[in-house]
Amino acid sequence: MAQSLRSMSDLRGKVQTVMGLIEPSQLGRTLTHEHLSLSFESCYVSPSPEDKALSKASIELKNLHWLQQHPYSHRENLLMGQEYEAVREELLSFRKNGGGTIMAKETGVNVIAGAGFYVDATHSEETRKMTVEKLTDIIVSEVRYGADGTEIRCGVIGEIGTTWPITESEKRVLRATAHAQTELGTIIDHGELLEFARMGSFLEYDLFGTEVLNYHLAFLIGEGYEDRLLIAHDIHTKHRLSKYGGHGYSHILKNIVPKMLSRGITQNQVDKILIENPKQWLTFK
Ligand SMILES: [Zn+2]
Repeated sequence: MAQSLRSMSDLRGKVQTVMGLIEPSQLGRTLTHEHLSLSFESCYVSPSPEDKALSKASIELKNLHWLQQHPYSHRENLLMGQEYEAVREELLSFRKNGGGTIMAKETGVNVIAGAGFYVDATHSEETRKMTVEKLTDIIVSEVRYGADGTEIRCGVIGEIGTTWPITESEKRVLRATAHAQTELGTIIDHGELLEFARMGSFLEYDLFGTEVLNYHLAFLIGEGYEDRLLIAHDIHTKHRLSKYGGHGYSHILKNIVPKMLSRGITQNQVDKILIENPKQWLTFK
């Protein structure tokens, strides 16, 4: 497919979904960090000797609890790319539960793709050899031309990640991300400290549904940061899809929002976090 250049003036004031440009007002309730299809095999963790058999067993209810504790030690669990039908069904249900944006025409949900490079373990040999300038060019072209040789253009930069200690390749990616952001007027995906909020970044709380993190939404709202909060699940393994007994993409709308309301967060504040803040973040400046 021939790729054509998206002009910066076309992007300004719009949101770029995989189907094309839309008005920010068309976003609706938006999950700002989900995966619909991916292989996470590069992050496989070898199981302990006593867990070897379980790590190869098929995904069934009786192994679900083990999977929840060791999601990365089961190869099949990391292959979410095989789940087209299950993900499609989930998106239809997200739509039915009042969701507006994560994508795809047939499900009626907008999808916005992310550009850029994740943690070192996922970098190819080729990526590791690239200069900051080359990495910047790739990120910018994923937004302006299309990603991976397609005409599908990204609407945001992310997911970007670093490990500790940070590697040379990750440092180059971070620099390239900053350069690309300046060039494009997009905002990068993550910021997890109050310092960032004070500087004007959005704080996105994801991994909702895994019960491994303690969230402080009410606290942050009380501290005056309701304009800076985003929430999502970051689903990236099979066991978190409804098909395998997981919470699915509608968990926040169905279960978390009522809890937020019962803890004194107002409907207006919930709408800010799910509609208004993503709109501000995803609109090209
Ligand atoms: Zn992610």
